[in-house]
Parts: sequence; structure tokens; C-alpha cells
Amino acid sequence: MLTHAGAAFREGMWARWYAHRMDTVKAVKEKLSIVDVVSGYAKLERAGGSLRARCPFHAEKSPSFFVSPDRGTYHCFGCGVGGDIFSFIEAIEGVDFKGALKMLAERAGVPLIYGQAEKKDPTDRLYEALETATVMYQARLDDAARAYLTKRGLSATTIQSFRVGLAGDGWSDITDALQQKGFSERELVDAGLSRKNEKGTLSDKFRNRIIFPIADSVGRIVGFSGRTFGEKAHPDAPKYLNTPETPLFHKSRVLYAFDRAKQPMRKHNFAILVEGQMDLLMSHEAGFANTVAVSGTAFTDDHAKLVKRMTENLLLALDSDEAGIKAATRAAHVALAHGMNVKVAALTAGKDPADLILEKGVEEWRAVIRSAKDIVTFLLDVLEEKMPKRDQFRRAVEAIVLPFLNDVASPIAREQYIQEVAARLHVSETAVRESLKEAPRTPGATGSSPAAKSAAQPVDRIAALFVWQRSKDTPALDMGAFESAIRESMPTGYLDGLAALTPDDRERLAFEGERLYAHVADLDQEWRELLRRSGRGQLEQERQRLTAELRSASARGDAEAEERLTDELNILVSKIAKS
Ligand SMILES: [Zn+2]
Repeated sequence: MLTHAGAAFREGMWARWYAHRMDTVKAVKEKLSIVDVVSGYAKLERAGGSLRARCPFHAEKSPSFFVSPDRGTYHCFGCGVGGDIFSFIEAIEGVDFKGALKMLAERAGVPLIYGQAEKKDPTDRLYEALETATVMYQARLDDAARAYLTKRGLSATTIQSFRVGLAGDGWSDITDALQQKGFSERELVDAGLSRKNEKGTLSDKFRNRIIFPIADSVGRIVGFSGRTFGEKAHPDAPKYLNTPETPLFHKSRVLYAFDRAKQPMRKHNFAILVEGQMDLLMSHEAGFANTVAVSGTAFTDDHAKLVKRMTENLLLALDSDEAGIKAATRAAHVALAHGMNVKVAALTAGKDPADLILEKGVEEWRAVIRSAKDIVTFLLDVLEEKMPKRDQFRRAVEAIVLPFLNDVASPIAREQYIQEVAARLHVSETAVRESLKEAPRTPGATGSSPAAKSAAQPVDRIAALFVWQRSKDTPALDMGAFESAIRESMPTGYLDGLAALTPDDRERLAFEGERLYAHVADLDQEWRELLRRSGRGQLEQERQRLTAELRSASARGDAEAEERLTDELNILVSKIAKS
């Protein structure tokens, strides 16, 4: 239990830390604009008075992602995301608020001082344990392990820069060393570094293995992949072992080397996907820094989202055996459903990228990448080669290729595929389209982007225009006149409703207003017209209601009601005519 003084002390400390953080946030925002931050990820264009781009968070053809330099915020009308520079970095880099603060503060040159309170965040301790373990594994990399890695084709520079290490034969080597440094049992187990047996004894998770550290998108180590190594390694041990699922490590969300491949992927506008650490390191060594790898899992929706922030073009370079082709097919389904373009590198049968680069050299790897085929062409080639009989080939195309076409998000790409399939099968495009209707779809793969919602009704447009102009230091219209006109002609409580909006809703409306009216020269004329139409709109609705009532009154033969409603309608119609 906390004593009163203790609580007061903590509160004071927290308040100081909080105040410091708020200062940092303010300082960062002063130095970095929303435009500076977003333009690293999306191509902003000026349209009328506003800035917009194709949304980096969802697939779309026309831009519905808007940025407001005045308010320092962004909003997407397609998928509904919105916020400031911090929430933008959190979402696009997959980090928490603290991670975003760190990245942006570094970029802005604002020093970050960690208070005592911040040290107590448990995930910080896990990052620290993993970082310390990485340094220890690196220090244990001996001559035998180096010789092995060199023989496999890795240079000393690659080994160093990817921080490759070694876990030795000891049962609790790393566990003991980290406990001596003050890490608790709990922290070591949570970090995935140690495991506890039934007797409660801790031992190292990784033994007799070459260790490949895996980082999150900002370069913090979150886990490891270990390949068996050394004479003492158990003969039955699995060749590769990954960190189990921990609070920091989720294999379905992390891509090996993503942190380093981010900028090269964006620069070259494509990403190469390989399977496993050695393939990845060799590809990077061969000059393809835009390569990422899955470790011990299939390519998931989260992986696709991660890559898609950088580029829409994915090149699959998986093993060329049957399992590899299956994996490529699965990965392609996922990527196509996210609106990506997918190519496949045709590797010689039985070879993985690491073998190929080692045996045939960098030039050969370049040639393979350059001659990568579109996924549909690749599959048609493979199937045609395997199935020389026409109807066998046709059935295989129906079973394997057509489901792909249904997943393709881009209608243009789908048309091209239909043409290609028709040509290869010597049938008409109509026949392919017919079969396509019967082909199964991958569950959950929608492909289409959510339709942009827009404030169609004048009553919503008035709100959008009002909130947007209210957010400005110097509104472009006569706010006083606008406000009193609203009070006069809109329903009671309309303005109070606007005043009571949540910050998120207010933000969404401000963007809506900007999107609709940024290009309009005379906003005063605009709101007058809107109010006139909204008044008329209400009368219209009333007229429809009365008409319906009148119809039902005459249907049940209620002459009295019929007469009353006819009078009301006549008054209303003349009102509408005058408005
Ligand atoms: Zn969006």
C-alpha cells in the first residue's frame, strides 16, 4: 500500500514527467509540419486550397487522403483514419506513441529526456534485455561460426551489420548473464530469451545455434531466429528455431530486415520477398537492400500491409520446389487482395536464392530478378509445362489460376489477365469471364476500397463548412452572419450539437468542409445557398410525410383526415414554391 507521502511524491514525479513530455510534443510539432512527415510516405498534391494524396493506409485509385497544414492534421475519407504527426507515425511505422515520439524527436533534433516514470514501462525492459542479449550473442560468434558463414557466402561486413551472433552449448549462459545484470525471471521469459522447466529452473531458449536478430520496423530487436550449429547441436533439433510469440514478437507481423529495407523499397518501388535469413542476407549482399523475409510463417495480411506502405510491387523469390510454389501462390493471393502487383522470380528447380547467388553469382541473381514474371503468367507457364494435355491444362487453370483473378483488386489488371488466360487456352474472353463467375473467391479478400463517405445532405454540409471555418484563425466568410442565419433557419439545438462534437468528429467535419469548399471562391454565397436548400429540404420531407398519410387516409376511407391533410398539403406546397 502506498503511504500518502509516497503517492504525493509519485504524483509529483508523474506530473513533471508528463509536463516534460508535453513540452517535447510541442517542440517537435513546431519543428516538423504534417506536410514534412506525410510527404515521406505519400505524394501530396495541391488541389484547390487543400493538399491530398492517395491514402498510404488503403488501396485507392483517386486520392481521398487530405492533409491540413493549418491544423497539423490528416484525414482519409476512404478508410476513416485521421490524426496528427504522432498518430500518423504510429500507424504507418507500426510503433507505439513512445516509438513515434522517439523517431520524430530525433528527426526534429529535439532532445528526449527519459524520466524515472518512463523507465518503469515493462516493454522497455524487454527491449533492453533483447538488446543486451544481442550484444552477448555477437560477442560469442567464434571462428568456427564465422568460417561457416563465410563459406555460405556472407561477408564480414554483412555479418557485422546484421548483428549475427552465436548461442553456445551452455544450458543457461545468456540467462545467467542477464540475471546478473538485474533482469528478472519474468522479464527473460517474456522476452523469449529463457524458458522455465517443470522444476522452475530457467534455461536458455537458444543453444548451439547461429543467431539472427530480428528487429521491428524502427530497428529495435524483438526476437531471434536461430539455425542449428556446432558439433554439440542435438541431431534431432529443428534446423531453425524462432522466438516464441511474446509481447514484442509476433511472427505474423514482423518481416526480417524490414527496418533496413523500408527506404530501398520505396526508392526502387518494389520489394523482394524471400524465405529465411540466409536468402535475405545473400540478397542484401548482392545489392538488393529492398529484400525482406518471412521467418517460420506464411506471408500474412499484416505483412502485406507493412510492405504496401512502402511499395505496391512485390516480387516473390521463394524456393522453386513444390512447397515453394505453393507458398508463392498463397503469398500472391494475400498480396493481390491488398491491391498489390505480384511478380514471381523463376528460380532453377531445387535452388533457393542463397544457393543461386553463391553458386552462380550476383549477375545471375540480377538476371533472375529482372526476368521475374507476373504471377498469372508464371502459373500458366508452370502448369502448361507440367500438363501437356489440353484439357488437363484447362482444368488446372480453372482450379488454380481463375481463383487468382477473382482476388485481383485492380479492374485493369484483371482485364489483362482475362485476355492472357483466354489466349493461352485458345478460348474467348467471354468464356473466361463465364468460368470466372463460378470460380471460388478467397474468403475475406475483398480488394475493393471502402467507398468514400460524403456529406450529401445540405444539413451535413452546413455543419462541415461551419466547423471547418471555425477551426481557422481567420475565417474566409462572415462567421457572425453565418452563425445567426443558422440560429434562425436551422432546427433548435443545431449549433449546440456542433459545439458538443467530440474532437474526432470535429476533425472529420473540418476535413469534409475543406474537401468540399476549399476551391469555392465566395463562401458567403455558398452558405446562403446551403441554408436555403436545407430549409427547402425540410419542407420537402414534410411534404412526403403528408402525402403518405393522405394516401393511407383515403385507403381506409377516413374522409375527415383526408380533408385535413389536403389542407395542410396545400399550405405546404405554396410555402415550397415561395422558398
Ligand atoms: Zn485511407
